[in-house]
Amino acid sequence: MTAPALYRHLFGPGPTNPYPEATAALGLPLLGHLDPEFIARMDRVNAGLRTLWGTQNERTMPLSATGSAGMEAAFVNTLQDGDVAVIAVNGLFGERMCDVAARCGAEVVRVDHDYGTPVDTQRVLEAHPNPTVIAAVHAETSTGVRSDLSAIGANKGEALLIMDAVTSIGGMKVEADAWGVDVAYAGTQKCIGVAPGLAPFTFSDRAFERRVEKPQSWYLDLGLLGGYASSASGGKRAYHHTAPVAMVASLEAGIDRILGEGLEKVQSRHEQAGASLQAGLQEMGLELFAAEGHRLPQLTSVRVPEGVDSASVRSFLLQEYNLEIGAGVGQFADSVWRIGLMGPNANPASVALILTALKDALS
Ligand code: PLP
Repeated sequence: MTAPALYRHLFGPGPTNPYPEATAALGLPLLGHLDPEFIARMDRVNAGLRTLWGTQNERTMPLSATGSAGMEAAFVNTLQDGDVAVIAVNGLFGERMCDVAARCGAEVVRVDHDYGTPVDTQRVLEAHPNPTVIAAVHAETSTGVRSDLSAIGANKGEALLIMDAVTSIGGMKVEADAWGVDVAYAGTQKCIGVAPGLAPFTFSDRAFERRVEKPQSWYLDLGLLGGYASSASGGKRAYHHTAPVAMVASLEAGIDRILGEGLEKVQSRHEQAGASLQAGLQEMGLELFAAEGHRLPQLTSVRVPEGVDSASVRSFLLQEYNLEIGAGVGQFADSVWRIGLMGPNANPASVALILTALKDALS
């Protein structure tokens, strides 16, 4: 027997509640993964993703797995034994990048930052004279920090720039081409407002020309994948793997929802919701974790007040309000909460509900 449906307000670091249109599209009649209608759908999705990414890259597509597979794809296709990867680490996902790059055989040059602070462009550019790859996270979900990667892109020299935009895409300005980004990946479950399961991905011609000829991953080999999932096949779309067709339909609906509202309007909706949540939390006397001027609107990190048990508050919110917020990560697991306002949740009503519920929990 299936358990009755339970609605949760997903105000954690992701997944967020999806747009209703994206959920409804999961119920569309299934198409085969080589059906011309499905190929046309994939092409529309890829075109929509180009708009969200701010790119003209032909090789722009949703990979059939979550954001971490996007990360793996970025590194396995660009790094091999002996290459050098300069990686900015200002949170958990920069850490994960180092692990993934090292497994590709690369020499990893870490540029460590205090958690809660943005990526320091100068230190990253000076970390190595001639790296194969420079990588950084645009929106660090683990700390709630945004970093400006455009100056790295402008001064990257021969290196390829890899950007993690899992939490930024759809919720804040992303301009992959203008910022000099060669490879970028994301997830569907954050500001795109679709369930988890796909990794929007973009790969420049420059990166493709310099790609690893036979990467250690067959599944994520861009040389093979591009021929199925993007128009880079030159019109001949051949089977590579069975695409998660229902998820692609859902992503199409999510993108349509965003572009129908207007990308800039959606971004400013996130901006306003985040600003009003952060103001409200500070009015309650709570202290924000991320450095001022570098805070993400869609993911707010806030310090747990002295003497308050983080887990008890989170379970009170879940039980009394059906409302999920996230714990911190690593050494901040018990001392920071992370509150997401992503996709359809970036609105004043969500802000009011979170503030009311948190006041109740702390009273
Ligand atoms: N990068 C960032 C910035 C993330 O926030 C996440 C997930 O939260 C990931 C990578 C990994 O994505 P996934 O959990 O979808 O595999």
